[in-house]
Amino acid sequence: MRNRGTIGGSLAHNDPAACYPSSILALGATIHSNRRDIDADNFIIGTFTTALEPSEIIVAVSFPPPDCAAYIKFINAASRFSIVGVFVARRHGAVRVGITGAGHYAFRCGSIEQALSAKFTPETARAVGIPAAGLNDDIHGSAEYRAHLIPELTARAVEHCLAGTPGAII
Ligand SMILES: Cc1cc2nc3c(=O)[nH]c(=O)nc-3n(C[C@H](O)[C@H](O)[C@H](O)COP(=O)(O)OP(=O)(O)OC[C@H]3O[C@@H](n4cnc5c(N)ncnc54)[C@H](O)[C@@H]3O)c2cc1C
Repeated sequence: MRNRGTIGGSLAHNDPAACYPSSILALGATIHSNRRDIDADNFIIGTFTTALEPSEIIVAVSFPPPDCAAYIKFINAASRFSIVGVFVARRHGAVRVGITGAGHYAFRCGSIEQALSAKFTPETARAVGIPAAGLNDDIHGSAEYRAHLIPELTARAVEHCLAGTPGAII
């Protein structure tokens, strides 16, 4: 499964803790189906739910190359899915941040994007407070814990971006 799973399959499945959904949001990707092109921002519409219609098939995913990008995944030790995963991409000074695992589905974090677009440093990300309201709260981690992880993991992703390294699983 781990060797044969496809990006299209992961995106269509849209597990709220899957990695790829956060990447398409951060990279500003376009999902190409057999019928149309869908912006990443319009693709994820709910838990395990996407804009795909019955029998619509993903045939490709494209994105403009970022100046730098990194993914940090804080894993559930049993499943290796994300408790929280953060994908940071910077292009022409604009920063996009995709979060997975923390909510009912992957989402962009506007407050951190705004702060990092003004000043792209780990300290900038760490200084952003994320409200716990609405975040997942379960046996793997409280909503407050996930709220703490978002700026911390974003800061580490920025460190990787600045170092030119792709990220880490922790
Ligand atoms: C042990 C384990 C650990 C995993 N860990 C992770 C992880 O850490 N991070 C992560 O992101 N994922 C993880 N996964 C999930 C994995 O990424 C997905 O199962 C895989 O990518 C799905 O791809 P697939 O091609 O096998 O799709 P399938 O499982 O075959 O299909 C999934 C769904 O998408 C539909 N579908 C498939 N391809 C397309 C397409 N091209 N267009 C439209 N619909 C399509 C299918 O009809 C089905 O409804 C894990 C899975 C397992 C079993």
